[in-house]
Amino acid sequence: MSGVTCDVLVVGLGPAGAAAAGAAARAGLSVLAIDKRRQLGEPVQCAEFVPLAMGRYAKDAFVQRIIGMRSILPSGVIEQSDFPGFMIDRGAFDRALAAQAAQSGARLRTQTALKGLDTGRSEAVLRGAGQEAGTVRYRVLIAADGPHSPVARMIGWPAIPTVETRQYSLPLLKPYGDTDIWLSDAYPGGYAWLFPKGDVANVGLGADAHLLPDMKTPLDMLCAQLIREGVVGDKILARTGGAIPVGGLRPSLVQENILFAGDAAGLTHPITGAGIASAVVSGERAGRAATEFLGGKQDALAEFEEDMRDAFEDSLTRAVARRRWLMARWHTPAALLDATHKRGWVAFREYFAA
Ligand SMILES: Cc1cc2nc3c(=O)[nH]c(=O)nc-3n(C[C@H](O)[C@H](O)[C@H](O)COP(=O)(O)OP(=O)(O)OC[C@H]3O[C@@H](n4cnc5c(N)ncnc54)[C@H](O)[C@@H]3O)c2cc1C
Repeated sequence: MSGVTCDVLVVGLGPAGAAAAGAAARAGLSVLAIDKRRQLGEPVQCAEFVPLAMGRYAKDAFVQRIIGMRSILPSGVIEQSDFPGFMIDRGAFDRALAAQAAQSGARLRTQTALKGLDTGRSEAVLRGAGQEAGTVRYRVLIAADGPHSPVARMIGWPAIPTVETRQYSLPLLKPYGDTDIWLSDAYPGGYAWLFPKGDVANVGLGADAHLLPDMKTPLDMLCAQLIREGVVGDKILARTGGAIPVGGLRPSLVQENILFAGDAAGLTHPITGAGIASAVVSGERAGRAATEFLGGKQDALAEFEEDMRDAFEDSLTRAVARRRWLMARWHTPAALLDATHKRGWVAFREYFAA
């Protein structure tokens, strides 16, 4: 691979990277997009919900509509709220976005990992499976490399704090149009969920790993309850998990000719863990910013950052503040109260109060 040059190097082909690669390639730039995975989108690490606004991206991966959300408080009281969106086949979603980028002319390389960066020379060291490391020269680099962003690490930026998750897919025994959310001190630093996906239920939980080192026991207990209630069957069809960034937006999204998008930028919502939509939006915007910048618009990268802050900063800042507030209350008597969780969860007006 040595000696390769491109206008835009995209690191990571999740939703952010695929959207970025597509946007830059459609504008006529030469784009190389890499991912260390063997098959894009696999293994799926997701509960697979996207909001309605993602409809046009989700049509190749659509599984079912979601109407509402049932937020279940510690007392057992249930708050029903609107939560319109879709359940998707996340693997198919990621691959469809990547296929669109390829059709637009982006060169995609799987099993190819970023191993090093020389930012002074705008050179990346890549290694493909079974290959010698090679270098690629880029004019702009888009870091869409997920919650643990190797690009951020390589340029000396701090890691974003994350929560851990664990999820089982189980047979869903009755049709479900809503998502269920359990708010409880049993899931400190997060919550538990059931997302219905046709005849399958994604049942999982996210939590602060320091407060809950063993996530298997509470997940097994929740599944046992759902099995007893006849909601799900007892056969585990798939297991997954992964990290979710909860630190909010990075202090900076641009360094020289490097832009950050998606989880790597800290765009995932620190309370809900939702990050697919912001990954797609930020990826597309990063691809357009790279195009404008290479077309001679000096402040295009700064404008990208400004747009991302305008679109996401208020909501992320509130979520970070609520998370911090909740973190002081887990495993205290306050964590047993409905009122605490109402202030900490997006379905309640208390969450949006000053
Ligand atoms: C269990 C779980 C459930 C979730 N459920 C939902 C949900 O229902 N709805 C929702 O909106 N969000 C959900 N999220 C969050 C969502 O999955 C992420 O926000 C989203 O994937 C972010 O997309 P991204 O493209 O920024 O990063 P990613 O999808 O993480 O993609 C990053 C890519 O970079 C690649 N990469 C990393 N390092 C390198 C390297 N050195 N070289 C080359 N490639 C590299 C990785 O292989 C990966 O493919 C969930 C997350 C988890 C863990």
